[in-house]
Amino acid sequence: MAGITEEKAISAQDISTDRDLPDAEFSRRQLEEIVRELESAIEETRQWLALFHRALVCHLRPDPEVITEDAHRMSRFGRWYSTNRDDDLFSQPAFAALVGMHQAIYAHAAILAVRGWKDSSIPPGEYDALLHKIESFNEQAGRMARAFRAALSDLDPLTGTNTRRTMEKELLREQQRIRRTGRPCSVAIADIDRFKSVNDTFGHHAGDRVLSRVTRMIEDSLRPYDSIYRFGGEEFLICLPDSDPEEARRVLDRVRKKIAETPIEIDSDEPLLVTVSFGVAQLVPRRRLKEITERADRALYEAKNTGRDRVVVWTAELG
Ligand code: GH3
Ligand code: MG
Ligand code: MG
Repeated sequence: MAGITEEKAISAQDISTDRDLPDAEFSRRQLEEIVRELESAIEETRQWLALFHRALVCHLRPDPEVITEDAHRMSRFGRWYSTNRDDDLFSQPAFAALVGMHQAIYAHAAILAVRGWKDSSIPPGEYDALLHKIESFNEQAGRMARAFRAALSDLDPLTGTNTRRTMEKELLREQQRIRRTGRPCSVAIADIDRFKSVNDTFGHHAGDRVLSRVTRMIEDSLRPYDSIYRFGGEEFLICLPDSDPEEARRVLDRVRKKIAETPIEIDSDEPLLVTVSFGVAQLVPRRRLKEITERADRALYEAKNTGRDRVVVWTAELG
């Protein structure tokens, strides 16, 4: 998956079997925001419930956060929803249901709070029902926050690409697909040329920036069904389904040219031009992943030895 958002996007369904999760794709930044807002909704509900109880126990006029008709919309969770209600996120059943629960809790609590203040009595069944709704909301929000947090931990913090752990799972799945369909698939290892000198000349911070810009360029130039994983420090593994090595060479050569032509702004007077070398190998079903990546690595080594800024496809002569 490439070029879906400004950062590497992942599908929530890719990472969990929880059917409550939305079938949508989120960047790392969006995932962080979702986790933050879900966790703060739980904390906010806890604090708001304390206000509700305080008014009841002390026979005080309930706080506006509890009794206004707008209580849900005044809450942080409600404001987050109002600002983003047109996003795909809230058209997903799990999120729509969570918002519905939140609205129902606030509406129900407002009625009970007024009743408790004016009549001094709330039927126990009504009170239990409210607490039950709050418990369900917290459980559901907590479950969703944990699932999104798990998705986040599968992404590399610097580049937003999938990590090596996810890579192995997905390549094994790809091998099964090849076995079933007989369609080809290629993998490539991409390695930034003379990257050490970027760090040495401009500092590690500039190096990080180059790393993340190069990743973005690769993602943006790949096809939607290609995937990229951070393989090592400044090395990435690219999976190109439905491509034999020659097709992969064509795709990657386009990526290579784009990177070589695009200046990267760093904190220096001149923007920097970097190049990348690629080693390609076919993902065949009956070989171990390690053997396949070793082949791609040997092709990469050849690309480095024959001048860099090029794509080399593995052949038997390379060992
Ligand atoms: P070559 O063209 O042969 O690939 O040369 P190179 O300098 O790119 O290769 P080498 O493997 O010697 O250097 C890779 C460097 O990448 C060394 C390491 O400090 C740097 N590096 C690895 N991970 C990161 C990172 O996350 N951030 C930064 N800034 N540098 C990194
Ligand atoms: Mg390297
Ligand atoms: Mg390198």
